[in-house]
Amino acid sequence: RNPKQKLPPWLKQRVTAEGVNTVSSLMNELALNTVCQSADCPNIGECFGARTATFLILGGICTRHCRFCSVPKGRPQGLDLEEPERVAQAVKTLGLKHTVITSVTRDDLADGGAGLFAACIQRIRQLNHEITVEILVPDFGGDEAALSVVLEASPQVFNHNIETVPRLYPLVRPEAIYQRSLDILQKAAEYGASLTKSGIMLGLGETEQEVVQVLKDLAARGVKAITIGQYLQPSPEHLPVVEYVHPEYYKMYEEVGYSLGFLQVVSGPLVRSSYHAAMLLDANKDD
Ligand code: SF4
Ligand code: SF4
Repeated sequence: RNPKQKLPPWLKQRVTAEGVNTVSSLMNELALNTVCQSADCPNIGECFGARTATFLILGGICTRHCRFCSVPKGRPQGLDLEEPERVAQAVKTLGLKHTVITSVTRDDLADGGAGLFAACIQRIRQLNHEITVEILVPDFGGDEAALSVVLEASPQVFNHNIETVPRLYPLVRPEAIYQRSLDILQKAAEYGASLTKSGIMLGLGETEQEVVQVLKDLAARGVKAITIGQYLQPSPEHLPVVEYVHPEYYKMYEEVGYSLGFLQVVSGPLVRSSYHAAMLLDANKDD
C-alpha cells in the first residue's frame, strides 16, 4: 500500500504479528504464495491470526495487467506439478476447515491452468476429509472446456470476481470483458456449482446506479454470494483511489443485495473476496 495515502478511520486495521508469522514461515518453507501477502490484503492480521489463508497457485506472475492489482506481471514460470501436493500439505498443517484457492491468469497455458486447479481440489480433499474448498478463478479466456475441468472437481464455492462496473473495464481490467465474466458465472451455475460467488471493489469512480446494476446482472446470472469492499491503491504506479466510500453505502448495497435474492452479501470497506468465506457455507447450510 502507498504509505503516503491518508486513510479514513474506518480503513485502519490492527495486525496481529503472531498469526502472520506462523503462516508466513510455513508458506516460505513450502514455497507457496498466498494472495493475502501478494495483494497486500488489509485483513492479513485477522485472517492469519485465525489460521485462514487464500493460496495463490500457478506461480506469482500474471499474464494480465489489471491496474488495481499488485501481483507481479510478466512472463510466468513453467507449471509446477508438485504444487497441489504442497498446498494440500499446508492446508493440513494449518488445520483449515475451509480453504480458498486462487491463481494469477495464465493466458500462456492451453487450459489456463484449469487442470492444476482441479488437481489441487482433489489432493486437498484426499488429505483433508472434512475440508470445504472455494476456488476463485480467472476467466480462462471464456474457454468452456477449461471451465468444465474445474467444475468437474466439484468445489463447494465457485468464485469469479466481476471487480468493477462495465464502464470502467478498459481502465481497470483492460484484458477482461464484463459480459464474458458474467457468462462464466452463469455457466458455472448452470453446470451445477453448489454456490457461485463474485466480488466488486468500490472507490474507482463508479456511480451508485452502476453498482446496483452490477448486482442485478449478477443476480440474474444465478450468483448467490457477493463481496463488496474498498479499493486501496497498492503503490503510486497503480490506479489512484477516486473515493473512499463511506460505510453507510456498504450498508445500503448490502440491503439491495439481499432484496435481489443473494444468500450472502459481505459488504464493508475492508471486505475482500475471501473475507469471512467460511461463513457463506454455514449460511447456506441454515438455508
Ligand atoms: Fe487472505 Fe482473503 Fe483474508 Fe485477505 S481476506 S488476508 S486475501 S484470506
Ligand atoms: Fe491481478 Fe488477477 Fe488481474 Fe492478474 S488477472 S493482474 S492476478 S487481478
